[in-house]
Amino acid sequence: MSIIKKIPHIVLHITQTLENAGFEAYLVGGCVRDLLYDQKPKDWDITTNAHPEKIQKLFPHTFYENTYGTVAVVNDDVSDETLKIVEVTPYRIEGGYTDNRHPETVTFAENLNDDLQRRDFTINAMALDIRGNIRDPYHGQDDIKNKTIRTVGKPTDRFSEDALRMLRAIRFCAELDFVMEKNTEEAILNNSQLLEKISKERIRDEFIKILMSDKPKRGLEIAHKVGILRFISLELEKGIGIDQGGIHTYDVWEHLLRSLQHTADRGWPLEIRLAALFHDIGKPVTRKKGETKWTFYGHEVVGARMTQKILTDLKFPKKISEKVTKLVRWHMFFADTETLTHSAVRRIVTRVGKENIWSLMDVRAADRIGTGRPKENPYRLRKYHAMIDEVLRDPISVGMLKVDGRKIMEMTGEKPGPKIGFILRILLEEVLENPTLNTAEYLNTRAKELQQLNEKELLDLDKKAKDKAAQEEQKEIGNIHKKHFIR
Ligand code: ATP
Ligand code: MG
Repeated sequence: MSIIKKIPHIVLHITQTLENAGFEAYLVGGCVRDLLYDQKPKDWDITTNAHPEKIQKLFPHTFYENTYGTVAVVNDDVSDETLKIVEVTPYRIEGGYTDNRHPETVTFAENLNDDLQRRDFTINAMALDIRGNIRDPYHGQDDIKNKTIRTVGKPTDRFSEDALRMLRAIRFCAELDFVMEKNTEEAILNNSQLLEKISKERIRDEFIKILMSDKPKRGLEIAHKVGILRFISLELEKGIGIDQGGIHTYDVWEHLLRSLQHTADRGWPLEIRLAALFHDIGKPVTRKKGETKWTFYGHEVVGARMTQKILTDLKFPKKISEKVTKLVRWHMFFADTETLTHSAVRRIVTRVGKENIWSLMDVRAADRIGTGRPKENPYRLRKYHAMIDEVLRDPISVGMLKVDGRKIMEMTGEKPGPKIGFILRILLEEVLENPTLNTAEYLNTRAKELQQLNEKELLDLDKKAKDKAAQEEQKEIGNIHKKHFIR
């Protein structure tokens, strides 16, 4: 299929409109790379020789995105949910990099080649017009074929202009499964310290993209190899060569990377990927020689603290760092498999939080795979899931009723005593039999009637009610077991 057919209508329309008005206009950057590599582009960028105010005149709804002349064109087709805005940026030249972060000056350029020259890598420095012509002065297409990340121009110059590009290089290796060209790689090795100048937020965003790529393990291995992993976390590398013994085939570093890779293979979300990566981060500092093997007592407690610090330093939102820290803190819980009781499961659900319990199970699965052991025995896994479901559900109890003991005493003048308990249980039985009866109105009236009965009559009804509640409880648990295919 022609690559033009893969371009959304609105993007073609904007490009065509610019051309019709006598300007040049091209798709550029990541979207061209992705189209040529047969991947789905994440966003669509257009570059043009039209200046911002000329761009704005051509489209009914636009606004400025940043100070670099980028105009956001709003898609007026409200039925198009996928693409709300398209960025149109005038050709630019950037100059005078002095702080290893951003240019001193940005000027508009006359021709496309000047704009392509400022871009970081050859695969990101291609432009495509709406007739399918590709402008590729740096042979990005060859590098796509050879799966190579190569800077436009001298790598040392380009990395000292903007040090973040070193991390971007690694991110593209992880996202595209590419390798770094030799000079590019060497330049990173020699200039890694420049990353000190880059804000934690920008580092975090690239780190997230590495984690969310298909090959996060590879990404972090390359980051280590070229000496920039320390800008993400000093602690990860300390796991290298930390043998664990026991069921573990790998050192801590390899184990963490394998756990992380499993979360990517399963397409799991960021928090779970982070927790898998950091779950044993406390091992190197807690390792002690036991009688027969290494011990790591308290590594999950120490590790949780370390994780919190790493994520806070990288300016992760509090919500994310709290969740990940909890997952690391409690990841050891399920280690003891055969003897797990409901009350133990209830405890862990309370500690990690109902909303996090299934994530914890995912971290556990990743941990296990990262150890080199096969997947959890499916029956046992289903049993865990059933136990969690059982403790998560609201138990059948008089607490479900739309009336309580105090209200009944108020209404009837009855003193505290066993009779109130009988009445509540009898009401519960009736509600279990017919849930529509669970209204304050009905229960109030019925409670008054029951209060008139003598002890003997109530006792008989109460016995029936208890049996009914026990039966219902059994049935609910049976349903959960059926759902998980366990006995
Ligand atoms: P993604 O798929 O993540 O969107 P992308 O290549 O589109 O990847 P963006 O950050 O969206 O990356 O940037 C768009 C384009 O701008 C890049 O393809 C590249 O040409 C250029 N670019 C972005 N950041 C830099 C940078 N730090 N230095 C040089 N060029 C850059
Ligand atoms: Mg992009």
